[in-house]
Amino acid sequence: MSAFLVEIFSSIQGEGPLVGCRQIFLRFAGCNLRCAYCDTPNDPHPPHCRSECMPGKRDFILLPNPLTVSRLISVVEKLNPFSHHSISLTGGEPLLYSEFLCKAIPLLKTACRGIYLETNGTLPDELSRVLHLVDFIAMDVKLPGVSGLPPLWREHEKFLSVASKKRVFVKIVVDRQTTIAEVTQTARLVAGIGDILLVIQPVTYENESGRPGVSAPQLLTLQEHALSYLSRVRVIPRVHKMLDLL
Ligand code: SF4
Repeated sequence: MSAFLVEIFSSIQGEGPLVGCRQIFLRFAGCNLRCAYCDTPNDPHPPHCRSECMPGKRDFILLPNPLTVSRLISVVEKLNPFSHHSISLTGGEPLLYSEFLCKAIPLLKTACRGIYLETNGTLPDELSRVLHLVDFIAMDVKLPGVSGLPPLWREHEKFLSVASKKRVFVKIVVDRQTTIAEVTQTARLVAGIGDILLVIQPVTYENESGRPGVSAPQLLTLQEHALSYLSRVRVIPRVHKMLDLL
């Protein structure tokens, strides 16, 4: 059993309510979507995974892909996982590797404090397979206006129904074109499933060094409308981009 990874490193979580928490990031290769704002390489089979040797030192070495479960565990153990808040499974879309994760997470869990899954929220069957193994779920809802994707409301609703059995929050990326209607539809979808935190994240583009791609009055208006349906709606930018961190 093996998986293609892009990189393994230690940094702070830059998005959502756990912003600033120290994590080990396992970035899996490949994604089932193609968002317009994606800043992740989309090669599903990169020849190498770059892997940090000491946590936070950016002393990367190249490991040949794909990585076996035992290889991954030994790499992670060297990064001192117990000094981290959790291990982040990110991508790409980590749930494309649900079978691999079923084998790897039980071993990772013996060496860390928690498993944090970052997902695009479109693969509910794959989530069901690993649900009992993850501790936190950071789920995207993709707004068609900013992502450039077709509407995925049904997929997101099904996914969130499964995810709501764990600690989960929903994140939407917004830009200048984002409409109140899209944000309202998201808020209603989330409210229909439970009292779940909604995070509004201003889009950042690689060439804008973390500058929000949306105005402050627009952000406040979008939040105000979402708060008509949900008790917890927070505006949280991508902090790691501001600090020029991975
Ligand atoms: S879901 Fe994430 S990784 Fe996949 S294309 Fe969209 S932004 Fe990129």
